[in-house]
Amino acid sequence: MASTLTPILSRDWDAERSWTLATYRDGGGYRALDKALAMEPGEVLEAVKESSLRGRGGAGFPTGLKWSFMAPPDGGPRYLVVNADESEPGTCKDREIMRHDPHLFIEGCLIASYAMKANVCYIYLRGEYVDERNNLQAAVDEAYAAGLLGKNAAGSGWDFDLYLHHGAGAYICGEETALLESLEGKKGQPRLKPPFPAGAGLYGCPTTVNNVESIAVAPTILRRGAGWFRKFGRENNHGTKIFSISGHVNRPCNVEEAMSIPLKQLIDVHCGGVKGGWDNLKAIIPGGSSVPCLPKNICDDVLMDFDALRDHRSGLGTAAVIVMDKSTDMVRAIARLAYFYKHESCGQCTPCREGTGWMWRVLERMVVGDSTTEEIDKLLEVSTQIEGHTICALGDAAAWPVQGLIRHFRHEIEERINTYRNDRPHVAVVAAE
Ligand code: SF4
Repeated sequence: MASTLTPILSRDWDAERSWTLATYRDGGGYRALDKALAMEPGEVLEAVKESSLRGRGGAGFPTGLKWSFMAPPDGGPRYLVVNADESEPGTCKDREIMRHDPHLFIEGCLIASYAMKANVCYIYLRGEYVDERNNLQAAVDEAYAAGLLGKNAAGSGWDFDLYLHHGAGAYICGEETALLESLEGKKGQPRLKPPFPAGAGLYGCPTTVNNVESIAVAPTILRRGAGWFRKFGRENNHGTKIFSISGHVNRPCNVEEAMSIPLKQLIDVHCGGVKGGWDNLKAIIPGGSSVPCLPKNICDDVLMDFDALRDHRSGLGTAAVIVMDKSTDMVRAIARLAYFYKHESCGQCTPCREGTGWMWRVLERMVVGDSTTEEIDKLLEVSTQIEGHTICALGDAAAWPVQGLIRHFRHEIEERINTYRNDRPHVAVVAAE
């Protein structure tokens, strides 16, 4: 079983001084920009639409369509904001792009901004990404010095500035409107929507917020064509994708593969398999910590794309695959994630502020079996009261892992409750809070 993909987005990660303009130009860098600038902005946008690229930050919304939502130019500022606040546990793909191929990313920013007639781009970097910021800033400086950025960018007659903004390490600032608030110098809290950023985003101006990988793939789509991009993956799930694979595998890695690759092939080919062999697999979290886990029987033949994982009531998310073998205590693992979401809740809405802490406390008791079977139903019910009832998706992100645990591993919680009761019959079971 071998990979059929020649890396595209990650092609130059191992090249010597891959982050420099000279290396990037040697590999054909900035030719896609020349091509884009020879086209009308609307034509560039149509090419990205035609490619069927879906956002690589988690939601999977069609990128070209998102670009087309920008309010028409009215003479005021228009912004592209790139979400580089990569904080979803398990996810570490965007940092590779920024570290190893920053000019590809900058070229993507130029192309996307040109398509949307934006004149300024802000890149909002995760607080912990210091090396990434340094490499990216050096590349931005090189691009300014080469005339690719700034007044008359790349000799096009179009003025375009690009700035880095370093966050302070809050997970919630990865939510696009919290990110905009933070960028404006305010407390990073999600905004009520509508209005959406495309109409009133940064400083109240038309803004599109995209993920790093979504932007970095734009030059290749322009250079090779939308048809080429659509050759990878299944209908509605096209292109290549960087997967971050961690946990109980022999070689954890970031790797680019065709969308819709079978999970087993992805792990066997690129990670040397699950530790102890495939039959030692217990479950995976397929798309970063916020999507529901999947047990081994589903993992056996699941495809890694948006629609296949949605059909199994999970999601591709950021394609951060967390692999757990049979030694994993699933209840403890999900309880730990519940703590994360409790800690990262911004506290604006009651279901999230109160619910995330409540779920965590109940799960902590379930870890040792100090609970009741009725409380499992109550936990599920509370999670559905959080899901869809909050200002931003952090509420959903907190609810889904809990729902996945109960859906697939309810028996483990029940066994633990029974053992606890049998071992400690004299101890009254604590009722749900
Ligand atoms: Fe804040 Fe949670 Fe509400 Fe999002 S869902 S706005 S993180 S309280």
